[in-house]
Amino acid sequence: MHTSDAIVIGAGIAGLSAARLLRAEGLSVVVLEARDRIGGRVTTDRSAGRVTDLGASWIHGIDGSPVAAAATAFGMRTQEFTVGGYQPDSRPIAHYGPDGIRLSDSDARAYVADIHAVDAALRDAIAASAADASYRDVTEVALAMQGWNADRMQRVREYLEHRAEEQYGAWIEDLAAHGLDDDTIDGDEVVFPDGYDSLATHLAEGLDVRLDHPVSRVEWSAEGVVATTPHEVFRATAAVLTVPVGVLQSPALVIDPALPEPNAGALSRLRMNAFEKIFLRFPARFWDDGVYAIRQQGPEGRWWHSWYDLTALDDEPTLLTFAAGPAAQQTRDWDDDQVVESVLAQLRRLFGADVPAPVAVNRTHWQDDPFAHGAYAYMTLGSTTADHDDLATPIGGVLHIAGEATWTDDPATVPAALLSGHRAAARVLGREVAVERLWSRP
Ligand SMILES: Cc1cc2nc3c(=O)[nH]c(=O)nc-3n(C[C@H](O)[C@H](O)[C@H](O)COP(=O)(O)OP(=O)(O)OC[C@H]3O[C@@H](n4cnc5c(N)ncnc54)[C@H](O)[C@@H]3O)c2cc1C
Repeated sequence: MHTSDAIVIGAGIAGLSAARLLRAEGLSVVVLEARDRIGGRVTTDRSAGRVTDLGASWIHGIDGSPVAAAATAFGMRTQEFTVGGYQPDSRPIAHYGPDGIRLSDSDARAYVADIHAVDAALRDAIAASAADASYRDVTEVALAMQGWNADRMQRVREYLEHRAEEQYGAWIEDLAAHGLDDDTIDGDEVVFPDGYDSLATHLAEGLDVRLDHPVSRVEWSAEGVVATTPHEVFRATAAVLTVPVGVLQSPALVIDPALPEPNAGALSRLRMNAFEKIFLRFPARFWDDGVYAIRQQGPEGRWWHSWYDLTALDDEPTLLTFAAGPAAQQTRDWDDDQVVESVLAQLRRLFGADVPAPVAVNRTHWQDDPFAHGAYAYMTLGSTTADHDDLATPIGGVLHIAGEATWTDDPATVPAALLSGHRAAARVLGREVAVERLWSRP
């Protein structure tokens, strides 16, 4: 049996952050990772000379972001790309109407003003909502307050559906009314031209990470924690468990004794989403210059409504779109050709029959990933924002759950993962430790 001061389960950003801080404070730490790589949901494909972030891409606001500070300290190149948070107007966006014709500037301005009017009313609607209200319920209240005709209301309703899908990978009726409360963007958004995964590489430097070590059992008691893998059993005084919500809910990982309250209740109200990326590399550009994104309104845009222009990033005409919520669930078993044809049908509606087939396609399958079961967690009906922190409540003084879903302020992000790892490390140590130690030299 292997013994150490601490075990960290999962080598994603939460686990690597916790392990790096514990090691910096002098503890012996082993990191157990199920996959054959580190990074978890931060992973970069580098095949065919292209850099493609299959998990996280964006820092959704660099102001005050610990990830931005770490990236700067690690010398990671970034590029501004401020439309990742599904804003209607943070940067130039080409909006197309239900007829497939691009909106005039004044029509686009009026549409965006309508979205802001509903958002302003939404804050009060959410505050006054019932405990089990959905995001649909509160958006309908805010829409009804506007006194618009059906068509005008429908355009904004669609936008709100798409926002729930793109931000949380959930159908609007399945997302809690408070499900987007903490979804804030402070400052510019940036992406990583050389790949987000180098954040994980830097954090992991010098750590004892055991790849291909899926943990099947975590036993906790006053004496500490025992983690079972197919190779060896690991014992430590304390453990940080950073596996995604989907793994915590699956029978593949047994926690013994079972999670107590409030962890168990919080976990039952969170759910992994359905959210997949589709990168389309084209032989030539057919869309307008100078726009960050293309969006379409109307029933044809039910699944494919938004495309992000990554050309500047990749130096090759590239559009990124998302299968999110129902679109991700219903295309889950489709092959790439079927998905591409379905997306191209919409692009050809907007840009004409000459739109060429892509020369390369990269499509993710997070729903089928046994070490994630989805892209990230969302709040189901009845959940409150407190569920995130409650999930991280220390268990028996020895077991600490961390990860994106345990952080209330902007959950479902890389900063949330990093900060949750920092909090878990401080709890294991029993004292504060500066988060900056993550990116300062030991
Ligand atoms: C498609 C997609 C797009 C995203 N876009 C963004 C974005 O633009 N910006 C942003 O900030 N965030 C984004 N996110 C979310 C972000 O990637 C995650 O919030 C963050 O990376 C989660 O880190 P984590 O350490 O909590 O979990 P993970 O990265 O999932 O780490 C957990 C680790 O535990 C391992 N593990 C699982 N089961 C076991 C087991 N039984 N034993 C041992 N190890 C196990 C996993 O393999 C994994 O390495 C996106 C995610 C996805 C999937």
